[in-house]
Amino acid sequence: MEGLPDVQALCREVLARIDAAADAAALEAVRIEWLGRKAGRITALMKQIPALPPPERGPFGQAVNELKTAVTEQLAARQAALEASTPKHLGVDVTMPGRRLEIGRLHPITQATREMVEIFGRLGFEVVEGPEVEDEWHNFVGLNIPPEHPARDPLDNYYLKDHVLLRTQTSTVQIRVMEHRKPPVRVIAPGRVYRPDTVDAGHSNMFHQLEGLWVEEGVTFADLKSVLAMFARAFFGPTVKTRFQPSYFPFTEPSAEMYVSCLLCGGAGCAACKRTGWIEILGCGMVAPNVFEAVGYDPEKVTGFAFGMGIDRQAMLKYGVRDIRLFFDNDLRFLRQF
Ligand SMILES: [Zn+2]
Repeated sequence: MEGLPDVQALCREVLARIDAAADAAALEAVRIEWLGRKAGRITALMKQIPALPPPERGPFGQAVNELKTAVTEQLAARQAALEASTPKHLGVDVTMPGRRLEIGRLHPITQATREMVEIFGRLGFEVVEGPEVEDEWHNFVGLNIPPEHPARDPLDNYYLKDHVLLRTQTSTVQIRVMEHRKPPVRVIAPGRVYRPDTVDAGHSNMFHQLEGLWVEEGVTFADLKSVLAMFARAFFGPTVKTRFQPSYFPFTEPSAEMYVSCLLCGGAGCAACKRTGWIEILGCGMVAPNVFEAVGYDPEKVTGFAFGMGIDRQAMLKYGVRDIRLFFDNDLRFLRQF
């Protein structure tokens, strides 16, 4: 077999290469080099066979065919071995740390609202709600706010169309409740209100109020004071002091503003309380007789008091938040603190 390659040596070479293939890609490279249809080295030997003179054709052809068979078998065996050493299905790794569930939390305004609802609930107040889009009757007229009152200026309200606006106070719910119920009435109405104020650390276009109303025979200013003082101690802590100062609201007479001793300085005077030691937290008063008349109650028979406070403002005081905008920025770094 002069001039022909040494098939035995080729066989040793290719089998060694197959055994050395470390992965499927390396094995495929060996297969293409030797058995590739276009340029495989064994393929080239096969093509030589028909051209050989008869005495050489037989033995060489047989040797090349045996080489091809041996290589094909060895490739299959090596492929099976590689697959066996690669795990197909990865089991559950019980030592891996689990994915943590993100547990949500209640917004500080929601927390404050719920706490207020709970405190007034203890005193027998029921929660009622009303629409945020109101008519002028419920937002102004029923509350004894006449057309010439500055609070009705279109620039101070979000009018949606004639006589319809976003409510500027939750007092509207008082009127709606009294229109549909006879006394006794003991309700609170928490909710959103809207005013086109310039937004700054203390003002927002949208904020939250909680309105309260107690109407019954024989309700007096003493009931007003004791209910609100009890609320202040429950919400801000047992050591907080309260003070009432005469004030004016169109729908109550007499009217008052209620103050609590400054939570930051304990009453000594600081920047937050403008050195007075007191912070105003709500407006209140005995419901005016003409408000009762407007809803069909007999002011000679029943009396009652109403109060309204900003929930955001109470939450700022309680939690020590200095900018109301933080509540509405949706910054998780802030919200996660509550
Ligand atoms: Zn202070």
